[in-house]
Parts: sequence; structure tokens; C-alpha cells
Amino acid sequence: MKKIELVDLKAQQDKIGDKIQKAIARVLSHGRYIMGPEVNEFEQKLVDFTGADYAISCASGTDALLLALMSIGVGPGDAVFTTPFTFIATAEVIRLLGAVPVFVDIDSHTFSIDPDKLKKKIQKISTEKQLRPSCIIPVDIFGLPADYPFINKLTDEYGLPIIADGAQSLGSQINDKMACSLTEIATTSFFPAKPLGCYGDGGAVFTKNPELHEKIISMRVHGMGTNKYDNVRIGINGRLDTLQAAILLEKLKIFKGELKQREAIAHKYRSVLGNCVTCQRIPEGYKSSWAQFSFVSIFKTKIKKKLEKYNIPTAVYYPKPLHLQKAFSDLGYKPGDFPVSEAISDSILSVPMHPYLLDDQIDMVTQTIRDGLN
Ligand SMILES: *Cc1c(COP(=O)(O)O)cnc(C)c1O
Repeated sequence: MKKIELVDLKAQQDKIGDKIQKAIARVLSHGRYIMGPEVNEFEQKLVDFTGADYAISCASGTDALLLALMSIGVGPGDAVFTTPFTFIATAEVIRLLGAVPVFVDIDSHTFSIDPDKLKKKIQKISTEKQLRPSCIIPVDIFGLPADYPFINKLTDEYGLPIIADGAQSLGSQINDKMACSLTEIATTSFFPAKPLGCYGDGGAVFTKNPELHEKIISMRVHGMGTNKYDNVRIGINGRLDTLQAAILLEKLKIFKGELKQREAIAHKYRSVLGNCVTCQRIPEGYKSSWAQFSFVSIFKTKIKKKLEKYNIPTAVYYPKPLHLQKAFSDLGYKPGDFPVSEAISDSILSVPMHPYLLDDQIDMVTQTIRDGLN
């Protein structure tokens, strides 16, 4: 049997490698490595794909979050509500700007920020008046959109903008509306292992707001005004490479098909594993992009050992919730503060998930998991 990979980038290359080589060769021949024509073309394709009003490509998913926060002016004294069950980047950028990440525990079934707890935390911070509530960053964990129908209502109620961290969820949907078009601002990542990955770092910000679009375009290139040497605000060097845009244009052409394959594989996993481990709940009307296939089991360690014995790779996203990371020790959180996130971190496991998993490989994974439970 072909070796099972957690994410099989080689299998994708077998399919479109020659097209990607040609795309790279075109960039080498025109030589416009910075903001070449492919960058604009890719942004237009992202708008078409997501239905967002504007897409601004940038250097990484982390820069996308940073640019989004900078564009709405987040800084010292601001509280940014987010989940501790995510990758460090989500909360790191908040701290980088001198604002304070205010964590809210997750829902034990969807692993996304718990909407009721979020509302209570916003009320608490508003009453305490120590910090100014400034925005919310829900995370589309493992590719599943957060509860935007509820969270968007909080925008109306409290006037807080929402930045959806869609690093893992490009291509996912709620009721036929694509991720990254569900909120006023959203971000994604093109890190190689994400559903739509390039061959290096890359990311994008999406918005419905023309003013924010203007600002982000400027901030992406050192806060430029009419040109690069006219600087009207503080920004960063946050551009997407032309080479990466060229690669992404080719990959985007097959992305819809890949999402369908991910969906079919997830369906197979769930139908066999659903009665022996706890899979992520996919609410009615939601479609995940299946960046990861993750499940919860009290026998996680046993299952992991068994899979390793048969050379099947696994991963744990995320072994330590952010409130317990040393980097955030000054925020004063302690074990027990977010019991759901902590319990899920202890019992979650991710198994191979990519569009090129073959039926015998899927059977091998599910059978080994079932054996591991006996
Ligand atoms: C990957 C990821 C990021 C960061 O993206 P990079 O492109 O690696 O900078 C941010 N948030 C989440 C949830 C991620 O999974």
C-alpha cells in the first residue's frame, strides 16, 4: 500500500506539477517578483471564489490577522475576545499590538468559541471598564466555520467588529455562503498544509468595507500613500510573492474538486468511526473544508500508539491551550480557567486528511483505530 501521509503534497504535484512548473517559469521570464500581475489576478479569483467584496493577499496568515487588527486600530487598552483552542498566531498578533487577548472557552462539540460564554465575557469586560472591548476573533477550527449567525448579532448589539480567523477554513460554508465572506473582516492562510496551500508562506484578508480595503492595501506595503515612497501611516512589509500567487492560481483551479474529495473522505471516516470516538459536530447547514480530521477519545493515547505501530501518522492540534502558554503567562491565567479547552486538548487526535487518500488507506486508518480500542 502507498505510504499514508498526514497531508500528501506530493500526490497533488503528480496531478498538476507540470502546470505549476509552467506557472513558475512564466514568473521567472517576466521577472516581476514583487506585486507582479499574478498577485492581482489571484486576488480577483479569491473574490470570485469566496463572494467577499475585497481580497487582499499578504505574506502569511499571521500577517493577515495583524493587518486586519491594524486596519481597525486595535492597540493598548483594547480587549480582543478569542478562543484559547487555536494556533498561537491568533492571539500572538493581539499582544504584538499591545492589546489584550481575552480568552473565552469553546463549545465541547464544535470546538469553536462558545457563543453564550462569549456574550457573558463581553458583558463582564464592558462592566469592569478596565479594558475597552474592541473586537472578536472567532476561529474556524479544523475547517468548520464558527457560529457566525450568533456572533454577527453581537456586532449589532455591542458594536464590535469580527475578524474571522479562517486560516483553516477557506472553501467551507454556512448555508451556501462561503467562509471569509460571512463577516465584515476575515483572514486566511496559504501555509503549505492548509486546504489551499502554496509552496511557502502566504495569506489573505477579506473585507466588505471599502475603507478597510484601502487601509490594508496601504499597510501591506509600509503604509504607502500614492506610492511606496509616500508613507501616510505605519505598516509592514506584508506582500504575497508573485511566485506564490502563480502557484496558487493553478491550485485554485482544482480546489473545488479537492474540497469534494475531502468531504467524501470525512464522510467515510465518520460513518465508520462515529460510534467509537467523538467526532467534531458539524451543525445543520454547515460544510467544513476538513483542514484536519480530528476526534476526541478518552483512549486517545492507545489509539495513537496503535496507529504509529502501523506507520500511520497522527498529530495533536493543540496539545496546550493558549492561556497555559508561557508566552501569555503575564495575563495571569491558570489551569482550570477553561475546562472544555483543556479537556479537549488532552483527548483530541488528528488523523491523515487530504484529497488524495485512497479507499484502502482510509480503511486501514479506520480499522487500526477500531483495533486500537480493543
Ligand atoms: C495556520 C494558522 C494561522 C497562521 O497562518 P500562517 O500562514 O502560518 O501565518 C493562524 N490561525 C490559525 C487558526 C491557523 O491554523
